[in-house]
Amino acid sequence: MENIKKSYETLWNSSLMYLKKIMPAHAISAWFEPVVPLGMRGNVIKLQVPNSFFCDWIDSHYKDQLIEALNKAAEDKVFYEFIVSKKERQAIDNTVHTRSVVPRKPAFISRSNVNRQYRFDNFIEGSNNEFAKNAASAVAENPGANSFNPLIIYGGVGLGKTHLMHAIANGAIEKNPNINAVVVTSEKFTLDFVNSLRKNKTIEFAQQYRSADLLLVDDIQFFRGKEQTQEQFFHTFNVLFQKGKQIVMTTDKYPEEMQGLQSRLLSRFNSGLSVDVQPPNFELRVAILLEKAEHNKLALDYNVIEFIARHIKNNIRDLEGAIIRILAKSSLLNQEIDFSLVKDVVKERVGGKVFGDITMEDVVKKVSNMSNVSSKEIIGKSRKMEIVEARHMSIYLCRKIMGTSLSNIGLYFGGRDHTTIMHSITQVSNKIKSDIKVKDSIVNLKEQIEELL
Ligand code: ADP
Ligand code: MG
Repeated sequence: MENIKKSYETLWNSSLMYLKKIMPAHAISAWFEPVVPLGMRGNVIKLQVPNSFFCDWIDSHYKDQLIEALNKAAEDKVFYEFIVSKKERQAIDNTVHTRSVVPRKPAFISRSNVNRQYRFDNFIEGSNNEFAKNAASAVAENPGANSFNPLIIYGGVGLGKTHLMHAIANGAIEKNPNINAVVVTSEKFTLDFVNSLRKNKTIEFAQQYRSADLLLVDDIQFFRGKEQTQEQFFHTFNVLFQKGKQIVMTTDKYPEEMQGLQSRLLSRFNSGLSVDVQPPNFELRVAILLEKAEHNKLALDYNVIEFIARHIKNNIRDLEGAIIRILAKSSLLNQEIDFSLVKDVVKERVGGKVFGDITMEDVVKKVSNMSNVSSKEIIGKSRKMEIVEARHMSIYLCRKIMGTSLSNIGLYFGGRDHTTIMHSITQVSNKIKSDIKVKDSIVNLKEQIEELL
């Protein structure tokens, strides 16, 4: 028994190692790491996948690679068969059951509007937003029972206002699952009000909002010019405020500067606290990119992250958009995420203005200057020690600085295959650890090449 168990697990581990060499890292983490080998029957390995989407995706995108990896690892013909994880099947069964048997409970209007993805634990703090975050956490801890009532979060587009507002709702619900947290956009509030007028249900409308323990209204700048809605909001606000209920609002400007809102509404806001969110600085942009990349199971080189952070500056939504776009582009075109793909995405986002492009030729030139080995020799076939050393360094730098794919590097360096390229990179990585001279040269070259940017 033990032996069989070992053998299919070992087979899978070796296959995975092989796949890692021939496929982009994001594809491995997204599609292959979640796979669990369950056993072997004859020459068929049974692979458990989280859901049926995996089967289709792997079959249609990576079938050949998977077979190749299994055959290489087993040194024999091996096929695979997918088994969808029990959990998913149970989940599907359960939903089918509950749908037909249990009537749906009437939910608070609130809950369905709370975005569970927007939490404090995935809100990254920096000097631009820490005050807002701290105030928001305090409110989530003790809604209504602090001097931050109302709490107004203001600032430009895409800087995390909505995220913080929902985080307050999630935090408060977690602490007290019975709390009636009503989350709306100002448009939804307006629409609900208008509909209640149409249907003669203004009393229900008022009750619905006035029963909130915690009312969170997003983007109140859109109340601008809507006199009757403001009137309604004013009353709702007063009722809740007098009952000691918490109110949170977001807006694009410092409340005093908001035009088109009634002054009695604005003066109400003064009793609480207004906090702003500012555009993120470089460090925060890097931190956010790292977190978003990890969240999307995207393995990006640090220098790629820095590259994005240098170019996309004033908006967190755009940083996130860049990551999603990179992921989509690489999946749809089935292309490895390399520097040129990232550069294309960033170019699209910033309107074509990126610092000058670095090419593999530039890298080789820099190494050539430093080592006195000609560019031609570096990409040539010679096995002379100093030439091989310069070649390895160039390959290493192309990979680390530009994130170029192994196969593209291989092509440029005289048609070498990806395992050879991988080997060169590993050699340099090891030398950097053991040989201070190599380390210094690499650091120096890196600086010189990055100056080209
Ligand atoms: P706003 O409401 O200010 O226009 P959002 O709250 O909608 O901005 O934020 C835009 C996107 O950026 C959201 O997906 C949000 O999760 C993300 N985001 C904003 N700030 C942060 C942060 N500090 N940490 C992590 N993600 C953030
Ligand atoms: Mg928003």
